[in-house]
Amino acid sequence: MQAPSIGGGMLPRGNGQTVRLSRGASLTDFAEKINANPASLVQVMFNLGEMVTATQSVSDETLKLLADEMNYVLEIVSPEEEDRELLESFDIEFGEDEGGEDALVARPPVVTVMGHVDHGKTRLLDAIRKTNVAADEAGGITQHIGAYQVTTAVNGEDRAITFIDTPGHEAFTAMRARGAKSTDIAILVVAANDGVMPQTVEALNHAKAADVPIVVAVNKIDVDGADPMKVRGQLTEYGLLAEEFGGDTMFVDISAKEGINIDGLLEAVILTADAALDLRANPDQDAQGIAIEAHLDRGRGAVATVLVQRGTLRVGDTMVAGDAYGRVRAMLDDNGNNVEEAGPSAPVLVLGLTSVPGAGDNFIVVDEDRTARQIAEKRAARERNAAFAKNRRRISLEDLDMVLKEGQVQQLNLILKGDASGSVEALESSLLQLDVGDEVDLRILHRGVGAVTEHDINLAAGSDAIVIGFNVRAEGRATSLAEREGVDVRYYSVIYQVIEEIEAALKGMLKPEYEEVQLGTAEIREVFRSSKFGNIAGCLVRTGLVRRNAKARLVRDGSVVAENLSIDTLRRFKDDATEVREGFECGIKLSNYNDIKVDDVIETFEMREKPRV
Ligand code: GDP
Repeated sequence: MQAPSIGGGMLPRGNGQTVRLSRGASLTDFAEKINANPASLVQVMFNLGEMVTATQSVSDETLKLLADEMNYVLEIVSPEEEDRELLESFDIEFGEDEGGEDALVARPPVVTVMGHVDHGKTRLLDAIRKTNVAADEAGGITQHIGAYQVTTAVNGEDRAITFIDTPGHEAFTAMRARGAKSTDIAILVVAANDGVMPQTVEALNHAKAADVPIVVAVNKIDVDGADPMKVRGQLTEYGLLAEEFGGDTMFVDISAKEGINIDGLLEAVILTADAALDLRANPDQDAQGIAIEAHLDRGRGAVATVLVQRGTLRVGDTMVAGDAYGRVRAMLDDNGNNVEEAGPSAPVLVLGLTSVPGAGDNFIVVDEDRTARQIAEKRAARERNAAFAKNRRRISLEDLDMVLKEGQVQQLNLILKGDASGSVEALESSLLQLDVGDEVDLRILHRGVGAVTEHDINLAAGSDAIVIGFNVRAEGRATSLAEREGVDVRYYSVIYQVIEEIEAALKGMLKPEYEEVQLGTAEIREVFRSSKFGNIAGCLVRTGLVRRNAKARLVRDGSVVAENLSIDTLRRFKDDATEVREGFECGIKLSNYNDIKVDDVIETFEMREKPRV
């Protein structure tokens, strides 16, 4: 495109027209949209006090500033929206079943188990799985692929249920944050001996926010002191009324440990699905769904567990998942068996992707390899731009000046790399929940699955970030590059250790807070006047101790008459003393202060650094 030159320092004028730009766009992108010369926009930004180059991607605020200046209305296109448009440009629609009502066939519910820590989520997922393995003639070695499917007989009919087997609501919310709806029903586990706890309520709120029906599993009924009725009572406060009391939530008493009434729970899931939801999908179309877990396997390359939401996924299909693509080389079910196809609600492990998608990324099957590659590449480019936009340290003249003067905003930048998308996301969400006050900002510039690469180090070097490797190591020349660039790369294998260290680092970055600690009080018994030193107080230490150089205030008849003093000299008889304790006499000279009287009290104190809690 030939951009008309804008001479004479004239600005391009928008007259209120709308410009749509994606997050992380550059001035060149902007210029292209309004048919202007990129250099003129660089000039505009310069006049506004920001130095940016034409091709670097800039933050939303910078784009907004520029648009305002030139009288354009800026519309930043969200990543979701942009992705929808990207797929549309290939004539693909994600999220809708093809064909009409007639094409829809019933599909199994997809269930997530949530609840307070230690209430038995993991145990329950194991128990459910075990009841079913016995019935499975394959009886193979079960594999944790992030999800599994079981069947249960309800009213004489075999019904399947898919469980996402990463317990807890972190995974659930991480996926939801990306707009992926992975769950149809939530099982809320509440230990009958413990009752409703903070994370029970949190989980419940997450489920409600996602508009997902809840089945309550009242667990640990085998334990002494278990009170399943109390749990029912407690949950009414949160709007979950048990069916037996006229409500519409099913409560099922179970013991995950003893395997009591697991069937009853599964039945409740099916009955709730039948009553509250219309779970149907078209099995006869190109498959679509979401990636729920993915990692890099030494022998097999990228492996991803996907949940098919509509259509049927087959070996040989070409798929795109997030910014990964490839042809499905093989598929395994949760028993480790090879399968040729997977229909709606089936979780399968997929081999053959070029890279590792993120948990919650959608996947689609497309007709041509070329389409898959193009979509994946566009998404990868977008991710990169967005990451750059986020990480851009704004080189604004005023800002720089201010930040240097005040040093008030501190920020810790991180790059997270891990072995599986689930762990990376769990790590990210836990880190983002760290709360150490407003003064320090934690930013995750980039996260991904796989080894720490040179690209990561370069990104870190460019933005003063620390690189966290979770169960992964640096590859190739990344280590030497990190050394050369002075990038701190840290390796961990336990999530809470990362959290702890980062939290400590954040606290270390905080300016210390001080609190006053009283040392003691001294009563003035006599005032000695000295032409050389000024007035000296002859004191008796009443409480605690008095220390030389300590801070002091003077109290007369119960009111403070002078603040911000200090103990200038402290003497026992004729000798200088560093401190004098309760019950002893001493001579005190207060710094620059002479107006002392008999019976005044000198209070001394120190400022100590307050430990952050
Ligand atoms: P999570 O943190 O919710 O995943 O809880 P876990 O599944 O790890 O269970 C926490 C503890 O409670 C473990 O020691 C389990 O063995 C125990 N537990 C789980 N379910 C039951 C149960 O039904 N009865 C008893 N007695 N203990 C249970």
